[in-house]
Amino acid sequence: MKSKCTFGPVPSRRLGRSLGVDLVPSKVCSYDCIFCQLGHTTEKTTERRLYVPVDEVLDQVNQALRSGPQPDHVTLSGSGEPTLHSGMGEVIRGIKRLTDIPVAVLTNGSLLWDAAVREDCVHADIVLPTLAAGDEETFERIHRPASGLTLGRIAEGLIAFRGMFEGEIWLEVFLLDGINTSDQQVAKIRALAEQIHPNRVQLNTAVRPPVEMDARPVPPEEMGRICAIFGPRAEVVAEYQTLPTGSEQSVDPREILNMLRRRPCTLDDIADGLTAHRTEVTKHLGALLAEDRVTATRRGKKWFYQETMTEGGESKR
Ligand code: SF4
Repeated sequence: MKSKCTFGPVPSRRLGRSLGVDLVPSKVCSYDCIFCQLGHTTEKTTERRLYVPVDEVLDQVNQALRSGPQPDHVTLSGSGEPTLHSGMGEVIRGIKRLTDIPVAVLTNGSLLWDAAVREDCVHADIVLPTLAAGDEETFERIHRPASGLTLGRIAEGLIAFRGMFEGEIWLEVFLLDGINTSDQQVAKIRALAEQIHPNRVQLNTAVRPPVEMDARPVPPEEMGRICAIFGPRAEVVAEYQTLPTGSEQSVDPREILNMLRRRPCTLDDIADGLTAHRTEVTKHLGALLAEDRVTATRRGKKWFYQETMTEGGESKR
């Protein structure tokens, strides 16, 4: 059976209603970040491969655009690092032939030193890379990268990409309480960000349950203080605002599982993403929890739901 590589549209704090396109298998990534919401990386690599045939991806995107609610963005993202897909450039060009909806690439930015990755990303409208460290030691601690990846190499890649890319770069600065929030770290991250010249700097933190519990979220007032240091282009990524759900519809529990495989979501996230009524979602979540196909984790005042995985990192479906 062909695997499903589109999901949503899901609510995204940064991209509104986002149709996700998952180009690589779950947790195939060049990093194993301590703040990852998806568990440990199962294949840590920098080798690009054709994980899913390009035609198959484009068929699924076409189908999702024709049948589902219209998204604000089509986003290459998902449960692994999308730039590891060697046909990514062809995928982006193909999506742009299908729709005028802007294409975004949600990437950890770790492969932009590779000219082929830069050439692929250049076809997107928005590229959203992550920067979380100002020095190599902090970079290693936070990202636990594949061998050969250094902050210096990645920063060079981001700067080179800026020099050739006419679209928007929205740089995510991911902050973790007590790990990269000292004045010294923030000053180093800001200095790197200035060299990258992003259109926006978006400060984020570990609001969803992370793989390592010491990856703690930064309190809102501290985020505000640090945001001011990054200047007028910076913003704290706001909590997702509930979208109007005018055409609420019944929901297939497989769609809920498909969404929860990519990231932990609250009840409201699921209801908004699937334009479904909360009561309908609650009913299905109750059944999925009872069958141990979904796990609930509390983070602050919110409950997050995630698909339950086997010890080998496989879906229980
Ligand atoms: S947070 Fe993103 S970059 Fe980091 S390990 Fe998870 S999927 Fe990879």
